[in-house]
Amino acid sequence: MQTIKAAVCHEFGAPLVIEDVQLAPPGIGEVEVTLDAVAICHSDISFAEGAWGGHLPAVYGHEAAGVVTGLGTGVKGFARGDSVVVTLIRSCGTCSSCAGGKPVICETPYDTVNGPLKTAGGQPLDQAMACGAFAEKVVVDQRQIVKIPKDMGKDAAALISCGVITGIGAAVNAACLRPGQDAVVIGAGGVGLNAIQGARIAGARRIVAVDMSPGKLETAMEFGATHGVLAAEEKPWKAVHAALGGRGADAVLVTVGAIPAYNQAPRYLARGGKAVLIGMPHSGAKADYEPVVLAALGQGLIGSKMGDTVIQRDIPWIVDLYEQGRLMLDELISGRWSLEQINEAIADTKAGGARRNVVVFNRG
Ligand SMILES: [Zn+2]
Ligand SMILES: [Zn+2]
Repeated sequence: MQTIKAAVCHEFGAPLVIEDVQLAPPGIGEVEVTLDAVAICHSDISFAEGAWGGHLPAVYGHEAAGVVTGLGTGVKGFARGDSVVVTLIRSCGTCSSCAGGKPVICETPYDTVNGPLKTAGGQPLDQAMACGAFAEKVVVDQRQIVKIPKDMGKDAAALISCGVITGIGAAVNAACLRPGQDAVVIGAGGVGLNAIQGARIAGARRIVAVDMSPGKLETAMEFGATHGVLAAEEKPWKAVHAALGGRGADAVLVTVGAIPAYNQAPRYLARGGKAVLIGMPHSGAKADYEPVVLAALGQGLIGSKMGDTVIQRDIPWIVDLYEQGRLMLDELISGRWSLEQINEAIADTKAGGARRNVVVFNRG
C-alpha cells in the first residue's frame, strides 16, 4: 500500500474532501498510472449528488491521462513511462458482450468497494466507475488504458477517455452516420460538441445543434454544426425540419439529461431515422413517446453507453485526427484547476457555462 492524495466523497451533496488514502499495488493484469490530468464530467457530479446511488465513501473521476508507473504480473504491451489515457471501461474480454465487440457493456461484475483503494484508516473506499481518478494515482486493469504519443498534452488527452469518445462514438458507432446524412445534436455541452465533431467526421451533410443557450449554439458552429436552433423556441423541431429541407434527421443525438429533450427527440427524425440516447438522466426519470409513430415511420430509439467505443480501436484514430488538426480538443478546455480546487471546479461545471474543467496535477 502507498499513500496518495485523493478527493473523497463522504456524503452525497457535500463538498469532496482532499485527504490521504491508501492505494494497493497493481494486481494481475493491472497497471498503476500516475495522473497528470483528470477532467470533471457531469457523471461525476451526478454520482456525488447521489443521483445514481453507490457506495460511500468513494473517489470519483474517470476522464484521465497520465504515465504508467507500475505494472502487475501479466501486463502485456505497456511499460513504465508510457503515456496513456485512462478510461472507466473495465472489460473482461471474454463475456458475451466483450466477445461480441461491445466491451462498454461487459457483463462481468467488478467489485469497486474491494478494489485497490482504502481510507487512511484501512476502511473500504469505493473506486467509483472502476477508476477513482480524482486522485494522484490510479490502479486499473490494462484493458482500461490506451497509449498516446508522449508529446501530446495530457489535459487534452484526458478528455478523450469519456466526453470525446462518448460523443464521437454515438455518431460513428451507434448512429452509424454515413456521408450525406443529416444529424441533429440536442445539447451543445461537452458531449454534444463531440457528437457534432463526430457527425462532421462521419461526413454528415447538415448538422443542426439544438440548445437553450445562444452562446452554446455559437460554440457549436465552431465545432462543425451547420445550423443552430434555440431549444427555447416553442416548437424547436419546426425550425430543425426547415433547416433540413422539411425531411427531418437521419440521426438525433440526445446528449443532455433533461427529460423534455427525450420527449421531443422523435419529432426531429426523418422516416427511418434513429434517436440515440446518450445523456444520463437521474434514475427513475421517465420519457414519453408514441410507439405507433415509431412503428409506422420505421424509426428507432437506441441507448448508447460511452459511444459504443472499443478503446483500443477508436482512441488511436481519434488521437491521429487531433494531431492532424481535424479534431478539436484544446478548445474544449475552459478551465484548469488544482486538486485542492476541485470543489470550485465542480461548482463551475454545475453553473453550466463551462465546456470541460480539468484538474491538472503538478508533479514537480
Ligand atoms: Zn464521463
Ligand atoms: Zn466482458
